[in-house]
Amino acid sequence: MSKLEGKIALVTGAGREKGIGAVCARRLAIEGASVVVTDIAGPFAEFPNYKVGAGEGLAEVAAGIEKLGVQALPLYADIADEESVQKMVAEAKDKFGRIDILVNNAGGSPGPAPLTQFTLAAWEKTLAINLTGTFLCCREIAPLMIGNGGGKIVNISSRAARRGAVWMHAYSAAKAGVLGLTYSMALELAPFNICVNALCPGDIETDLKQWGLEMEAGVKGTTVEKLKEEIASATPLGRLGRPEDVAAAVVFLASPDSDYLTGEVLNITGGHGLGNATVKPGY
Ligand code: NAD
Repeated sequence: MSKLEGKIALVTGAGREKGIGAVCARRLAIEGASVVVTDIAGPFAEFPNYKVGAGEGLAEVAAGIEKLGVQALPLYADIADEESVQKMVAEAKDKFGRIDILVNNAGGSPGPAPLTQFTLAAWEKTLAINLTGTFLCCREIAPLMIGNGGGKIVNISSRAARRGAVWMHAYSAAKAGVLGLTYSMALELAPFNICVNALCPGDIETDLKQWGLEMEAGVKGTTVEKLKEEIASATPLGRLGRPEDVAAAVVFLASPDSDYLTGEVLNITGGHGLGNATVKPGY
């Protein structure tokens, strides 16, 4: 039997074919889960240059999942908006009656910038998307899990939460907040058989990463390809990460294989930051 047969999962930020969310949703489906795939429809009016939103992609992701022989429900929702999250959860409950697995994947940041030029609006939006959004989804879905005897929550944080990132103060702070939320919820929800864990991906090749690298290349006067080479050579496992690397860990944390794990944080970084990866061993 597949690991997640009969389970119902909800994955936020899952509307981009090559994004971590969509790849996670497909892996969960391959393991037998039916999946509610959710995303915001388009960019925020106040940040038109911030490339966010799934557009038509969400329906395509859902159709791809149904081809795997499970059910999929595509829902547009802004996770930073309380009413939108409540409506999303109500619609998911109407269709499936419960949610066993929640993957809080939606995230990002409008307008990374030097500290002295960082606008309050960009700061607040970044906290709203990454931290408030995770809180709202957990708050609305935990009662369903409690009523159903348990569940699994996987929060997608970031390496930036633990190590910081230039121009990404709001993002790093929000993702660090996600870790604090993870620990507190793990404690509080353990008696209800709900495990809450977090992942800290490093450099994972997605549209979001590409956008960040293009910006960085422009500032540094270099190319995206050169930046990728630098990242790969500073990574002990010698390459950037793939969404599939994150999805494998999500499936583990969503499955009974991790039933005795809660309040844990797992790096998905290829060992980046362990030491000097450019020094080759002498054999
Ligand atoms: P992505 O841009 O493909 O995915 C992010 C998704 O979140 C998008 O589909 C976007 O539309 C959605 N989203 C943003 N704001 C939303 C909102 N308010 N409501 C609903 N949906 C919203 O990028 P990705 O690289 O796949 O990122 C997925 C997650 O992984 C994010 O939380 C990101 O911060 C995290 N992460 C990514 C990397 C990386 O290198 N790619 C590294 C560390 C952490």
